[in-house]
Amino acid sequence: MTENAFTCQMCGNCCTGEGGIVLSRSDRVRLCALLDLSLSAFEERYTHGAGSTFHLTTKEDGSCIFFTPGSGCEVHTVKPDICRAWPFFLGNLRDELSWKMAMDYCPGINPNLSHEEFLHQGMEYLRARGLIRDCGQDGARSLQIEDLTASLKGGDRT
Ligand code: SF4
Ligand code: SF4
Repeated sequence: MTENAFTCQMCGNCCTGEGGIVLSRSDRVRLCALLDLSLSAFEERYTHGAGSTFHLTTKEDGSCIFFTPGSGCEVHTVKPDICRAWPFFLGNLRDELSWKMAMDYCPGINPNLSHEEFLHQGMEYLRARGLIRDCGQDGARSLQIEDLTASLKGGDRT
């Protein structure tokens, strides 16, 4: 049986970095429903950004506003798509060097498998969760994988 290309080790690295969690409108709607806030109240309290781009606010130490050391993500059940999709981001799927560099940051990425296997499992993972976006949609560019799916031939075995 093939090993998993990714198994989260709950280290919290991806919640304590430099922020940058981009929220789509559907992310914001899910989060404000969980927090029992209006959309505008949620955006004012928990996001920042310019124009139509919304980023989750971070704490003074740079960690995500919803991250609590020891217990993790406070909004796990409705967390943003970008959080659900990591490490299967466009860059890591398309580029083997990016995938290798991501291993330094995320101990959940299995270094024993090939990049081709990472790509294969990643596409299945994203498809199963409805996380593949096209370039016209809002939210994180890392999930705009439509172009990649169109160009995949040998790498995508599904
Ligand atoms: S960095 Fe990787 S292993 Fe650590 S919590 Fe995030 S996804 Fe899980
Ligand atoms: S929303 Fe949750 S999973 Fe995403 S960065 Fe914040 S604490 Fe981490």
